[in-house]
Amino acid sequence: MNQPAQAGGGRWRWLSGGRQRRQEEVILMLLCALSIPSILPFGVYRLLQGSWASAAVDMALVIGMLAVIVHVWRTGRYQVASIGVTIFYSAGMLVTVYLRGVALVYWVYPTMIAAYFVLRPTLALAINSVGLAVLVTILVSRLEVVNLLTIVVTIGLVNLFAYIFAYRTGLQNKELHTAVELDFLTGVGNRRALERKLAEHAQERRPQLEASLLLLDLDHFKQVNDQYGHAAGDKVLIRLAELMRRHTRSSDRIFRYGGEEFAILASGAGLSAAARLAEGLRTAVAAATLLEGHPITISIGVAYMDQASEPAEWLEQADKMLYAAKQGGRNAVRVAQTATEAAT
Ligand code: GH3
Ligand code: MG
Ligand code: MG
Repeated sequence: MNQPAQAGGGRWRWLSGGRQRRQEEVILMLLCALSIPSILPFGVYRLLQGSWASAAVDMALVIGMLAVIVHVWRTGRYQVASIGVTIFYSAGMLVTVYLRGVALVYWVYPTMIAAYFVLRPTLALAINSVGLAVLVTILVSRLEVVNLLTIVVTIGLVNLFAYIFAYRTGLQNKELHTAVELDFLTGVGNRRALERKLAEHAQERRPQLEASLLLLDLDHFKQVNDQYGHAAGDKVLIRLAELMRRHTRSSDRIFRYGGEEFAILASGAGLSAAARLAEGLRTAVAAATLLEGHPITISIGVAYMDQASEPAEWLEQADKMLYAAKQGGRNAVRVAQTATEAAT
């Protein structure tokens, strides 16, 4: 059985504090947590030395990081916090270099790399470029040109490499994500994609975005395989997927749910619109020639994706209706009655 897709993946559950967290949230909190033991000892050292300004900057960074961890932990909102942390951190490092001199410039490198972990590469690059410009203004009067140039070039290279790495990783993630959710035979979404989409719809909880679920199954498909061979059966599946694409709107999502079962998530469709879509598909399949010399028909079960129910219940309802369509003689559509409809 497929596991329902989880945002951020199950690996991060141990850090979830009881709820599902995105990978980005966890990385941000980890970076903030890591920065505390990295900075705190220096803050204490500066305090003992009586360098109040430096100590204040270090302590402000530590308190800021703690505040971000608490905020992200409690709210799960990480986007603005990620930008805030990057700017706050960069500013802290620049002030430190300004106060304590060029020896502290080593801190700029990890800080700038960290930006690529929590932000989109272009945004990280933009913030770091501003940081570099400020750094040059701070150091220009204190360093020989050749030394300043060395710092600028090495920071520039670090950013270039980090940017390329982050950009490539982003692209690969996207490709991997698409590949993992695609059915290789028909090119429609696979069951994993369906489960993710259903879970997303369940989480949205926005009543204005109603949707319906259609489950389709080919009638007597075993006969097709037995009579014409598996390859011919595969061709029917490919042609059926093409037909479904032509007969649905671009907002409708098509999935291969199992061997010769498909699902359509019709967003923006109430039950009557979904029933019309199902009936249209059924007649289109019956009229089309998906296999030369052999009529192909489908049965469809339709369920309304009631906001009070869960994905498993929508699937179960649609499956029940599909079963009813089969029992009713096949080449048929059966539509589930919603609780509200039944009451009226
Ligand atoms: P029913 O009308 O009750 O649905 O009858 P059916 O023969 O279609 O029965 P069922 O839905 O259980 O069909 C399953 C068959 O679908 C078994 C298998 O031969 C065929 N099948 C499943 N996956 C594939 C596939 O990827 N390619 C091909 N060619 N056939 C498949
Ligand atoms: Mg079948
Ligand atoms: Mg089947």
